[in-house]
Amino acid sequence: TEFSRSLLPRTRRLLLLVNPFSGRGQAMQWCQAHILPMIREANISYNLIQTERRNHARELVREISLPEWDGIIIVSGDGLMHEVINGLMERPDWEQAIKTPLGILPCGSGNALAGSINHYAGYDMCLREPLLLNCCFLLCRGGIRPLDLVSITTSPSPSKNSRTAAPRRLFSFLSVAWGFVSDVDIESERYRGLGSARFTLGTLVRIASLRSYKGRLSYMPPSVVATTSNGTPPPRRPLSRSITEGLDGFSKTPIHRTCSDINSLTLWMWLGSDLSPSLPLSVTIPSPTSRKFWTKTKTRPVQGPTHSSSTLAPTPSLLNFDLNEPAGLLRNRPFVSLPFDVPRDDLLPPLDQPLPTRDWVTIEGDFVLVLALYQSHLGADLHAAPQARFDDGLIHLTFVRAGISRATLLRLFFAMEKGNHHSVNSPYVSHVSCKAFRLQPLSPRGTLTVDGELVPYGPLQAQVHPSMARLIVG
Ligand code: ADP
Ligand code: MG
Repeated sequence: TEFSRSLLPRTRRLLLLVNPFSGRGQAMQWCQAHILPMIREANISYNLIQTERRNHARELVREISLPEWDGIIIVSGDGLMHEVINGLMERPDWEQAIKTPLGILPCGSGNALAGSINHYAGYDMCLREPLLLNCCFLLCRGGIRPLDLVSITTSPSPSKNSRTAAPRRLFSFLSVAWGFVSDVDIESERYRGLGSARFTLGTLVRIASLRSYKGRLSYMPPSVVATTSNGTPPPRRPLSRSITEGLDGFSKTPIHRTCSDINSLTLWMWLGSDLSPSLPLSVTIPSPTSRKFWTKTKTRPVQGPTHSSSTLAPTPSLLNFDLNEPAGLLRNRPFVSLPFDVPRDDLLPPLDQPLPTRDWVTIEGDFVLVLALYQSHLGADLHAAPQARFDDGLIHLTFVRAGISRATLLRLFFAMEKGNHHSVNSPYVSHVSCKAFRLQPLSPRGTLTVDGELVPYGPLQAQVHPSMARLIVG
């Protein structure tokens, strides 16, 4: 990259997304004092946007033109990174969008990714301004590494109609936690004023009132290659991008096409052979009165296919369907996407179906915690998966079974600070790595978090997608 940069000498352009309320609310102050002077010095040009509310960054990156930027930089904690990754994955051009280099300048109370970057660069563990300065320096150097993402399927939100609600899909770069770790994360929100010390206090409070949860944990060890029952690898479905590219009549124009007057819109789509022909298609119509892009989504079953299933079989097939909309609504940029095919979890059956018994390990019982981590750090000072690399293609699972003493659990957390918790030998503590897992909580109440953010409590499954994103690590 150094070589190509010298051939194309132009300043890097970074989009800084600042959450002014992250951590102890000092992000803007640290921008002025530390971040902006350093990146100006490095001759980097930037735009700075302050987030105004939760999901603001997520909506923003769903709409912006990405080629303008050499990187999107999160000036906050891990929560804002989670928003940005999911916003990028919600775009019709997600496959390219998610390749936008992402950086983090730690100003939150949970700075796990920054801690991992700092560690990877060879610096000693640190917090607050020292950590920020290290990360800012690494950002200015600008080296990029591939980053694994983990696709998560959670239960539908309980508020929705349970008959129609579909499982939720989201993308995660850091962790899934159940039990002790997620309880601390959520309960310690009330000690926000303490910065990262909130987790230490939260841990001590939780150890004093130690709980366990019933559940079932299944995982697929890394050596396994997915096979269907007759021994052949499962078929690969085409991704949604290859489908949108196949739009005939639209193919010479961008997906976000401006259509002046459409009453009856006929779309010709090339679909791959093994795609279900009854897959609902959604047409997304931006509302003319709202700034928001994703406001009206109409889901219709595909009318067709017009070709018999034998023609559908080996090669891409032509599928013809009609969508009739009132003329007024379609005046704004319609486009077509298949939202549930982004990208497929080929190691997992649907969440409500049983796992294959072959190749999967299942543990059922009482757990104190289950933690799936894919970065080396769970917090800037919690070196919880020392062997993890940004692009090792692995999920690092730690689970602690009920029966562990408070003293051993405390020793485990202290050892994590030093990155040597593997030295804590206890029959109740296990560390394994995997490519996919499923967690089925059986206790009626509890908390589940993804990247530190609360998700609906219920069955959840995950699969790693190696090197899907890119991270600025210096
Ligand atoms: P911290 O590590 O301090 O929790 P995060 O980056 O994780 O910092 O942000 C915490 C939460 O705040 C995230 O869930 C994020 O979605 C949300 N958020 C982002 N911008 C704002 C804002 N302007 N006001 C309130 N919440 C916000
Ligand atoms: Mg957070």
